[in-house]
Amino acid sequence: MTYHLEDQLSAYIDDELEDHERQQVEAHLESCESCQVLLEDLLSIQNVVMSSYEQVQAPDNLEALVLQSMGMEQSPVVAEKGWFLIPVLALLSLGILWFVTSTVLVNLLHGFLKLTIALVYLASHYITGLPMLSGLTVVFSLVILILAAYSLKRLLQTTTP
Ligand SMILES: [Zn+2]
Repeated sequence: MTYHLEDQLSAYIDDELEDHERQQVEAHLESCESCQVLLEDLLSIQNVVMSSYEQVQAPDNLEALVLQSMGMEQSPVVAEKGWFLIPVLALLSLGILWFVTSTVLVNLLHGFLKLTIALVYLASHYITGLPMLSGLTVVFSLVILILAAYSLKRLLQTTTP
């Protein structure tokens, strides 16, 4: 016989074989070293699985423990504490948010105001101090305006059939 017992060994370990099948397996195991090794491997795997199963096995009073913890959570003392904490935390976070945003807004407004003042100062300085430059600016603006009008006209001509 050249066939091995890969398929039957786990059934042999689980004691699921008929009497004559069991006798065949035992007879083969006595003569076949590779199936003996396989049997030992399967047994060690089963041991590992069984021991890990025992480790995660739930205690007998699990249901009682769960019910007890649920009862604890629903007790009025904890509920009262929870409801008291929610508005306090909300007010606290709102206060922090208001403080942060108002500080940022004040800084932004301050910076914007400074920038505007500087720009107005610069503009007035150039307009009063350098009439040549302001004249150039007006000419430059007019050129840009004409160019914009011209390109708009071309755009309208190309889009309309
Ligand atoms: Zn074998």
